[in-house]
Amino acid sequence: MRLNSTFPIMPSLAKHFMRLAQLEGRKALPKCLPNPPIGCVLVRDGRVIASGYTQSPGQYHAEAMALSQLEGDLSDVIANVTLEPCSFHGRTPSCAKALVTRGIKRVVVSMPDPDPRNAGAGIEMLKAAGVEVTVGVLEKSVLKDIGPYLAKSYGHGDKDSHVDTPMTY
Ligand SMILES: [Zn+2]
Repeated sequence: MRLNSTFPIMPSLAKHFMRLAQLEGRKALPKCLPNPPIGCVLVRDGRVIASGYTQSPGQYHAEAMALSQLEGDLSDVIANVTLEPCSFHGRTPSCAKALVTRGIKRVVVSMPDPDPRNAGAGIEMLKAAGVEVTVGVLEKSVLKDIGPYLAKSYGHGDKDSHVDTPMTY
């Protein structure tokens, strides 16, 4: 267990909020497809102040939807997201960049994104900007929810997929 002054959140609390993010993610199906159904909750002072989930392709990702509900300084806000925020600008701007731009200093991620376009780059982008990142909260449970969609999102095991990597974001 790692606790320090810059990340004053108890592991049990981190699980609680990730569970809420997971429930948000379940609202994304089926409109989000072929993107994975991701959920996000933004927490301030131990309370959820905004939440989001993956919208139709080209619309808000979970993080962007949650961020859109808030104004002002978010440096005291903890973002809890079920999948590593995207690092690249696809159909929508990068969520990792959006979190940094809005001043978020702490991000809790359930699982890393296996999409080869991301694959750790989102987490690195956050860390490079000085954001404290925790990965692996409720990972097994979240994987059950989004694992099948992650596989599809990068074109593996999908008979109808083209040779090109589909742009799912
Ligand atoms: Zn994103």
